[in-house]
Amino acid sequence: MRLLLTGGCGFIGSAVVRRLITQTGHSVLNLDKLAYAGDPRTVASVADDPRYAFAQVDICDPAAVAAAFAEYQPDAVLHLAAESHVDRSIDGPAAFINTNVVGTFTMLEAARTHYEQLDGPARDAFRFVHISTDEVFGSLTLDDPAFCETTPYSPRSPYSASKAASDHLARAWFDTYGLPTIVTNCSNNYGPFHFPEKLIPLVTIKALAGEPLPVYGKGDNIRDWLFVDDHARALITVLESGAPGDTYTIGGRSERTNLDVVHTICDLLDDRVGGIGGDTSRSHRELITFVTDRPGHDHRYAIDASHIETDLGWTPSVTFETGIATTIDWFLANRDWWQAILDGNYQGQRLGTAS
Ligand code: NAD
Repeated sequence: MRLLLTGGCGFIGSAVVRRLITQTGHSVLNLDKLAYAGDPRTVASVADDPRYAFAQVDICDPAAVAAAFAEYQPDAVLHLAAESHVDRSIDGPAAFINTNVVGTFTMLEAARTHYEQLDGPARDAFRFVHISTDEVFGSLTLDDPAFCETTPYSPRSPYSASKAASDHLARAWFDTYGLPTIVTNCSNNYGPFHFPEKLIPLVTIKALAGEPLPVYGKGDNIRDWLFVDDHARALITVLESGAPGDTYTIGGRSERTNLDVVHTICDLLDDRVGGIGGDTSRSHRELITFVTDRPGHDHRYAIDASHIETDLGWTPSVTFETGIATTIDWFLANRDWWQAILDGNYQGQRLGTAS
């Protein structure tokens, strides 16, 4: 397939691009604006492959998006481009409305125009996979059942509200126009190339610098963690086998409190580099600092992934313990990647403590 993928220089999009080029025969046109979290180095390992192409495009620009469809003639779309950081959405929601809502609308309209001139097998096979988050479902208590495809929407931050709006648009374009959209809602991802403002890389990098490790509230917020390559594999599975009009919730069955996650990172760093600054008598756990909670902070997310597991045969392949160790080792081995972001083009307003 010829795939038009948006946001392919971001954390998850780049994992999908790398997997598509190295593990499948599909071709990719990566449309990315190179916003603050977009980094071409995330796809450098496949950038010279003849099946990979890149265009710096803002998905809110209808003419540029239409031109990309007209020139590339994609067989399917994977739409990942988004503003993705909850703390930034609290400080400045406008960019989230623009990219996540207007940008998704622009993508759906361009895809509809393209789809309407397809016929035969190309029309039957066309898919628009819209990648979203479990945050659209709101917050769970400890006793609530996990989110699934029929959980009512209850977004509580500007980020999750903008993603919820975009999910509704994708479904409306299926019901109203027959565009074969599929929506995926995934739990928190982690892994290589995770942007340094998110919890796991933030804590890792601050711990290595011997700086305080900010943890919101009591650190008892719970997230269901999924290794990014497992998410990338799930998205390709949905692309290839998912049903138009359907929704798939994707998660790792790995619920952990934020404090558990931070403790795990500290323990891994104690093992890999000794204690703080190499002093084996001082565990990185000493750096943990509890800070005022985020407004509207969702308490718990958890995903019931039975539908994609049963119907499409996808399951996570990496446990949290294996995935987090791989991730910490990657950050230790790739300091040049994150140090360049901290030193140069990083445009952080306020470093968050949890996504
Ligand atoms: P990211 O912030 O790392 O990357 C987003 C990418 O989109 C960047 O490359 C950025 O340059 C690009 N982009 C932003 N605005 C754009 C615009 N107007 N036009 C074109 N490109 C633009 O995000 P991520 O963590 O990789 O998330 C990717 C998708 O997955 C998002 O839709 C997000 O909502 C969803 N998601 C993320 C998680 C997670 O844990 N990170 C979990 C579930 C779902």
